[in-house]
Amino acid sequence: MDAFTFHNPTKLIFGKNQVEQLLEQLPEGVTNVLIVYGGGSIKKNGLYDSVIKELSKANVTVHELSGVDPNPKLSTVREGINLCKEENIDFLLAVGGGSVIDCTKTIAAGAKYEGDAWDLVTRKATPDGALPFGTVLTLAATGSEMNAGSVITNWETNEKYGWGYPPYTFPMFSILDPQNTLTVPLDQTIYGIVDMMSHLFEQYFHNLTQSPVQDEMVEGVLRTVIHTAPKLLDDLESYEHRETILYAGTIALNGMLQMGYRGDWASHNIEHAISAVYDIPHAGGLAILFPNWMKHNLEVNEDRFVRMAVKVFAVDPAGKSSREIAEEGVEALRSFWTSIGAPKSLADYDIDDQKFDMIVDRAMKRGAFGNFSKLEGQDVQKILEMSK
Ligand code: NAP
Ligand code: FE
Repeated sequence: MDAFTFHNPTKLIFGKNQVEQLLEQLPEGVTNVLIVYGGGSIKKNGLYDSVIKELSKANVTVHELSGVDPNPKLSTVREGINLCKEENIDFLLAVGGGSVIDCTKTIAAGAKYEGDAWDLVTRKATPDGALPFGTVLTLAATGSEMNAGSVITNWETNEKYGWGYPPYTFPMFSILDPQNTLTVPLDQTIYGIVDMMSHLFEQYFHNLTQSPVQDEMVEGVLRTVIHTAPKLLDDLESYEHRETILYAGTIALNGMLQMGYRGDWASHNIEHAISAVYDIPHAGGLAILFPNWMKHNLEVNEDRFVRMAVKVFAVDPAGKSSREIAEEGVEALRSFWTSIGAPKSLADYDIDDQKFDMIVDRAMKRGAFGNFSKLEGQDVQKILEMSK
């Protein structure tokens, strides 16, 4: 393993009705709280009222930034930063999914930075600090509730990047009540499952030779998600299955599984380039791309794919060549995602090859990428061709 220091400062508060703990979590002396949320799902399912009720017990003025879109925009971030400065906001509370949380993170850091927040996202500058913030999560998917990452899209330049700057962009606390995810619609539930599985695969495809604990943990979480997903999709209001998936999504990307190595993360990078050009759901892009990234990289380390096939998808290796087992594993992933209703080609979003050049350009902006294998522009082009 590589040398590492692990420090995740986010306090995780998990379980039924835990929003009642909100008041105790607010830092002392806070006077102006900005609640950040999306298009209104929290108003429909009553969570907004519960949060307001809790905050009303504190001696704070509540301000609001609503309308954060899926794939949050730089323009919304700037709006939030202006609000923070005008209203002397001293605490932010994200109530929503990954988009709301990611937007809040960049607002929190941007509010303490003199220049434009895009400098932070593009890593031209580093933050000087950040306003403290917490989250109330409503959707199991990204792990953003317990990591320092934030993904922001700039529609003026068609660029979408992930960035983060620990410890500033870690939430102080995150409240996860599976009940708050019961209203997530079928399509977003599917996307959440694909996103968390993709996070697990990004970490599984590393280039260490010695990682038995990490590998077993990743495989265990993957098998659990694969086992639970169809049951949850059959019964979206099952508390038990929502709980399992919510916990899996957090564990999948809070750093616990990725100690001592870096994952690959190329598929995420290509997906960000696609959704910077076409505003498609993050996990929809991943469902299309990831099996094709696997096919493209089969020869880099075939044994890794054989292991995935056998240990994650229970492929029977008897009488088969390594290559056959590896290919069967990738097919098993594709059929699993198709079986739960995830898209499998760009055509599912009416995307053809017209803007492939632009997507390749955006994917390559920060140079060759990926750790399992380094991808150049021609590799990205090939994976896009396979994804048509
Ligand atoms: P999301 O974009 O936050 O939300 C998707 C949709 O689900 C929204 O329309 C939202 O509606 C709705 N929704 C959320 N909770 C709901 C609930 N309880 N009931 C009903 N509807 C609900 O989805 P996400 O998958 O969590 O986040 C995707 C973003 O995260 C992408 O931009 C992706 O690039 C990024 N991402 C970040 C990380 C990271 O580590 N930071 C990792 C992977 C991906 P409302 O707007 O009405 O609430
Ligand atoms: Fe993701």
